[in-house]
Amino acid sequence: MTTAPAAPAVLPDGTAGASPYQSYVYAYPHKTAYRELPDRPPLRELWAGESQHALSLYLHIPFCEVRCGFCNLFTRIGGPDGLTTAYLDALDRQAGAVRAALDEGAGFALAAFGGGTPTYLSAAELERLCDIAEHRMGADLRAIPLSVEASPATATADRLAVLAERGTTRLSLGVQSFIDAEARSAVRPQKRAEVEAALGRIRDAGFPVLNIDLIYGIDGQTEASWLRSLDAALAWRPEELYLYPLYVRPLTGLARRGEAESPAQWDTRRLALYRAGRDHLLALGYEQVSMRMFRRAAAPQAGVSEYACQTDGMVGLGCGARSYTSRLHYSFDYAVDATEVRRIIDDYVATPAFDHAVVGRAMTPPEARRRHLVQSLLQAEGLALADYRERFASTPAEDFPAEFAAFAARGWLTEDAHGAATGPADRADRLRLSPEGLAHSDAVGPMLFSPEVRALMAEYEAK
Ligand code: SF4
Repeated sequence: MTTAPAAPAVLPDGTAGASPYQSYVYAYPHKTAYRELPDRPPLRELWAGESQHALSLYLHIPFCEVRCGFCNLFTRIGGPDGLTTAYLDALDRQAGAVRAALDEGAGFALAAFGGGTPTYLSAAELERLCDIAEHRMGADLRAIPLSVEASPATATADRLAVLAERGTTRLSLGVQSFIDAEARSAVRPQKRAEVEAALGRIRDAGFPVLNIDLIYGIDGQTEASWLRSLDAALAWRPEELYLYPLYVRPLTGLARRGEAESPAQWDTRRLALYRAGRDHLLALGYEQVSMRMFRRAAAPQAGVSEYACQTDGMVGLGCGARSYTSRLHYSFDYAVDATEVRRIIDDYVATPAFDHAVVGRAMTPPEARRRHLVQSLLQAEGLALADYRERFASTPAEDFPAEFAAFAARGWLTEDAHGAATGPADRADRLRLSPEGLAHSDAVGPMLFSPEVRALMAEYEAK
């Protein structure tokens, strides 16, 4: 599961707001900063001259069997008869148009099916989805890392068999909580027995990497119940775990959540649960990859890929997917509200040709620096200063002195990074967040937004 920020952190003076939970910044800029592109540039123009030897391919399936209360992703509950077929038909048309816009020698180094819930599709439909990726786009799924998201109810043996046979290296299961009452409280009705059965089927299918998503900060969740949930997940020896803080965002099922505790109390509880979960995993030999992601030491990775998220392009297919070239990030319209989501999916399915970008945001050189920082600094391994210098002929501290002074003043940088941020650039070879900085990743990320992106996000009306 991935979750997106619903609202910008408004930080006019460049300092963090009081809450450590401003927004989850996993991509920059967020889609709420995208706007209609008046010139609707042809895809062929957008991709001309782009480095295309190690692209990432993302296919978005905007269907789920339930709508979780915390989720603001672009997805709908189920669909009328024939809609998934029509959606795959549209994906096929879009893949054809995008492939025609790429160079003949374009290659994919990484692939992912996300959503929504890709396993909402039947086994036969998943075969077709893989065919689109392979035959239309030319991605060799058995030769590159392929990550697929699933939910317990849809992780059936027949679907998993298709995914395993087609080369899935990482299966990510959205569990959120192993405690039935907490799952209900997060408006994700499921029984632990169903979750355990799904995990058994996933392990039987033999994917090299199992990821389990869990959420902390749910109403009624205590440190003891959180660690019980974590231990239930650990019993499956997952290669990866994602620990997500709960957010309550506009237009989601939890947006009407009762005020059982004040926002400050909730922040304190989330931070305490984060630390308890992090410390538990570190003590058991897991490595922290980012605020949310933990990897079992010595566990196989989902596959080695030469794709570099800071610089390489991404081809997104489907109505909620983004695509990245070095000069433009583009997508389709974005919504959370059920009626609006249905409208956008219906429009997508009815689109005869997909040879232009319609919604997006230009990636200017200053924004590229911010994006590079966001994509690197929020990882535990931090930012390689040599890479930044090679790409931009400067250091982050020179480019963003106010931001780095604010991070340093809060103790959010490691000692070496502090030196690099405020002194000579060569005092450290990596710029890293301190453990406290990593804990505050959802405040650090928004502090790196440009004023323009902040303004666009602020004026975006959730729909
Ligand atoms: S399964 Fe739940 S969290 Fe995942 S995309 Fe669907 S509604 Fe969102």
